[in-house]
Amino acid sequence: MKIKILGSGQDDGIPQIGCYCKTCNSARKQKKSRRLGPSIALISKKEKLCYLFDVSPDLKYQIDMLKGEGVRVKRKGQLPISGIFLTHAHFGHCSGIWCLGRESVDERNLPVFCTPKMGSFLNTNYPFNMLIKRKNIVIKKLIVGREIKMKNFNLSVFEVPHRNEIADTIGYEIQTKKRVLYIPDVDCWTEEIIDRIKEVEIAIIDGTFYSKSELSRYNDVPHPPIQDTMRRLRGAKTQIYFTHINHTNSVNTNREKRRYVENRGFHIAYDGMSISV
Ligand SMILES: [Zn+2]
Ligand SMILES: [Zn+2]
Ligand SMILES: [Zn+2]
Repeated sequence: MKIKILGSGQDDGIPQIGCYCKTCNSARKQKKSRRLGPSIALISKKEKLCYLFDVSPDLKYQIDMLKGEGVRVKRKGQLPISGIFLTHAHFGHCSGIWCLGRESVDERNLPVFCTPKMGSFLNTNYPFNMLIKRKNIVIKKLIVGREIKMKNFNLSVFEVPHRNEIADTIGYEIQTKKRVLYIPDVDCWTEEIIDRIKEVEIAIIDGTFYSKSELSRYNDVPHPPIQDTMRRLRGAKTQIYFTHINHTNSVNTNREKRRYVENRGFHIAYDGMSISV
């Protein structure tokens, strides 16, 4: 199986709306500098199945990125995905669901896996509740600590400290031949999460900022900066990929900074990147 990074950017991706910094301008000019909203696809070519983890506002471009991956469309006119797993309710991670309704693709009974709290948010708020009512999507509840068996992989979820104004936030451990963590959005690392990262083969984790000083309103939107995360994970055997990268992050345009990260054995995710799992 493989994981394809469909979006390696922070919620609004790069370029960010209304921003004309060097990084955003360069992303407007060339596609390779662009980062779509945060999402990954877990793809089984053998079974022709594809599951998305988080659905960003850039979903329509991300569905196009599945072309050539051998995934199956269940019904003509529907999307080539068998289900969606959500981490939390922030805009960049779930708003793509809005594209599944009658106004566009009019999906039929697409399973959306999330926590009971997140499910209750979707059930009680427009437009998500309309999608449930019209059976475009079906909510499947995930319980922290309980393993889920899918056709060709297992999965478990765990709580993640993050701004939970709306619902709660989880990270995923996906078990294929390898153990893979997906934690795109977190306020800070706990000892427990650091231990989890060290135990698995692959971890795709929050790399929003390089340093705390790059955004003046850092305290409103805290994330563990890459430079601290590298220090905490020094010596780990895990293959680590930083994702959810903000336009302010210097790894976007500063080659030396990027090399510094890579020379320490860490990877910076990019849109379209494939990771064998
Ligand atoms: Zn986010
Ligand atoms: Zn910018
Ligand atoms: Zn968030």
